[in-house]
Amino acid sequence: MSTATFADLGLAPSFLQALEELTFTTPTPVQEQVIPLALAGQDIAGQAPTGSGKTAAYGLSILQQLDVKQDAVQVIVLVPARELALQVRDALKKLGKYLPNLRIAAFYGGHAFREETQSLKQAPHVVVATPGRLLDHFERRTIIPNQLKILVLDEADKLLELGFQDELVEIVKRLPRRRQTLLFSATMSDKVVDLIRRNLTRPRVIDVGQDDDRLPENLHLLGHVGTLEQKPAALLHLLHQPETGRALIFCNTRDRCTELTRFLQGRGVAAEVLHGKMPQPERDKALLKLRNGSSQVLVATDVAARGIDVTLLDTVIQYDAPDKADGFQHRAGRTARAGAEGTAHILATPKEQAHVQKWPIAASIKWDVIKAPKLPPASPKAPKPTNVTLHISAGKKEKVSIHDLVGTFMAHGGLERDAVGHIEVFDHYSYVAVPRQMATEVAERVTGAKIKGRKIRVSVAE
Ligand code: ADP
Ligand code: MG
Repeated sequence: MSTATFADLGLAPSFLQALEELTFTTPTPVQEQVIPLALAGQDIAGQAPTGSGKTAAYGLSILQQLDVKQDAVQVIVLVPARELALQVRDALKKLGKYLPNLRIAAFYGGHAFREETQSLKQAPHVVVATPGRLLDHFERRTIIPNQLKILVLDEADKLLELGFQDELVEIVKRLPRRRQTLLFSATMSDKVVDLIRRNLTRPRVIDVGQDDDRLPENLHLLGHVGTLEQKPAALLHLLHQPETGRALIFCNTRDRCTELTRFLQGRGVAAEVLHGKMPQPERDKALLKLRNGSSQVLVATDVAARGIDVTLLDTVIQYDAPDKADGFQHRAGRTARAGAEGTAHILATPKEQAHVQKWPIAASIKWDVIKAPKLPPASPKAPKPTNVTLHISAGKKEKVSIHDLVGTFMAHGGLERDAVGHIEVFDHYSYVAVPRQMATEVAERVTGAKIKGRKIRVSVAE
């Protein structure tokens, strides 16, 4: 057990304050090891498993080193996926809450370039980006990295797995040679080691000693063995248990995800699908619905679910067995994050079970045999979640705030303060969760109300 505090690591009071508000009381092992070295300017190659707190490890280190008075891009964080870009940006914003005028931008493919450049009147201090989109910005000179101090490669193994090698080479070519480089990865393949050799200078290697056969201690692993035909009923049975709560379900292909989502929706389960071929707004909406409680289940491929931190995710269900042990670890590791309890189920045919049991990491799975009841007939009357998401036709760019939305929904929608649920404001639209039984009525009443002098339209987001 470590006894270090965040203050011991050399962090400034403004960060200690932000950490306190985040209720991060003690540094995780990777934070404890990375922060002092990174603050001393060292290059770092850090290996630590999913959920170990790598974002704050580099996040605090970079934020403390940048100069908000300097109007230039000082840090670039490269991530493998769009969701991750947004998630890291939001995490950095929270950590940097008390750095006055801190500007952080997220760049990622799948939406209009214009939306990203509009906000660039002043250079962001930190850019969080996927490699392809960052190169576009370099080409168009909307981002000029000649003042860059720190490059972060987050989820380096995934960056390589997804084939970003060439982009990485192109990006690094354009950066100042004198810089600090911080690389993080859950695994250290030969390719990652090669990337470290080529791009880091005398790196300190930090390995928080997680071998491939460990998962969080508070994670319960349950396996259910049966035929392929028994899986749907077994899944429904699991989803109907109150302790299952919010669940992330993994299938091996996009088609399987889509098919399973339709099946669940047909049985009255509030399920959404998430895969790499969906347009960005659809992906945002799918994640948001899980977060705000208007859906119970997200059915995802590995790529789409990569790096997503769905807070308060109770359960992971692997509907198909993954091919490899680290796939199993990544999926199961989506729950039981940062000390919370979690359960990961796997539904397996006897053949899949035999495959999975070869992995050391699967040793602690408690197996049982599916005795699921027969599949109930499809019924649209099955219980629905208590919340519904409403779509509002205005967002940040129309100067709409969470505060405005709460006020409007109370004044025009006739809702009590605590009946107005989770709210998220995007650039040109927002989402508000409201109790299901009043949703349509509230949407009608609030439509036509004005926020910041502009009439809004409200509809149920389905
Ligand atoms: P990784 O990138 O290593 O997979 P994250 O940085 O996403 O992990 O962190 C996982 C979760 O742990 C996040 O929800 C984060 O907010 C939380 N977390 C990180 N550091 C701490 C800490 N010191 N104390 C409590 N929670 C933490
Ligand atoms: Mg991470």
